[in-house]
Amino acid sequence: ENTHTLLPPSGTGQVITRFGADLLVETAGGELLRCTTRRKLDQVACGDAVRWERQAQGNAAVTEILPRRNVLERPDFRGKLRPVAANIDLLIVVTSWQPAPLWEMLDRYLIAARRLPAEVLVVMNKADLRAAQTTPEMEACLAEYEAVGYPILHVCADQQAGIDAVSAAIQGRTAIVVGQSGVGKSSIAAQLLPDEAIRVGEIGQTGEGRHTTTSATLYRLPSGGTLIDSPGVRDFGLVGLDFSTLQGGFPEFGAYLGECRFNNCTHNHEPGCAIKAAVSAGKIPPRRFARYLNLLADCNG
Ligand code: GDP
Ligand code: ZN
Repeated sequence: ENTHTLLPPSGTGQVITRFGADLLVETAGGELLRCTTRRKLDQVACGDAVRWERQAQGNAAVTEILPRRNVLERPDFRGKLRPVAANIDLLIVVTSWQPAPLWEMLDRYLIAARRLPAEVLVVMNKADLRAAQTTPEMEACLAEYEAVGYPILHVCADQQAGIDAVSAAIQGRTAIVVGQSGVGKSSIAAQLLPDEAIRVGEIGQTGEGRHTTTSATLYRLPSGGTLIDSPGVRDFGLVGLDFSTLQGGFPEFGAYLGECRFNNCTHNHEPGCAIKAAVSAGKIPPRRFARYLNLLADCNG
């Protein structure tokens, strides 16, 4: 089925998904091409830009992974880090009013976005439950993220409200949806994806190889964006927090960093810390600083 008569002998493309040992590649010309891959390319991920070649037998093979802008990894069942999605522009972090946001988890996603690096969009889902579920503390926490400059969209996936704004944010970008369980990630992904895009992702299930359900799949949205989605990507773990990316997750520290007495200040126990002074002076929200200290304790250098 890969005997595309107009297909050149080789070219570039993007990995749509993998099923078994094979890859589904969208060629630069927009054709879907099922490719075999070499053992040494087992690190290829959804979203990767690749080079492919037609083989003598009429099928095609991916021969090279082109340089990545970034890659999202998660541990496999052995704990070994595996790439699951590459070349991501936007991390959409979904939270909701019920279950209530785990703010430290949100912080971790925001830090992960910075580390990739990728832009970030916070989506507050289940707007219909806001009035009943919100507390002054929740509103204050959310307002602090907004004050620091994180973009926040309020949506109600159940009523399709606000989804257009999410589509607009994805336009011209490659996005993935992440967040804690039960906040509505699947509901939002289902709203974003057109029916025919879902069928493209299912191509692997009709072939000889079975589509592994955890494999991430890349979808072209009608609004012009690209969404990489899979249950396995949506709750990816946040491992290997390092100090400089941790600090980057707290942009409000930036204005004071140069004023700490020690230039390697961790803003924990050190004397002459300008960040702690800013917290005392009410310039940095104490709640955010407290979460910073918790994350710092998890830092590995
Ligand atoms: P996921 O675990 O993050 O993928 O969450 P799901 O998409 O499976 O949604 C979890 C539950 O929240 C389901 O029962 C959804 O129907 C429900 N849900 C999703 N969006 C909304 C919403 O906007 N409002 C309300 N009230 N429930 C929602
Ligand atoms: Zn300091």
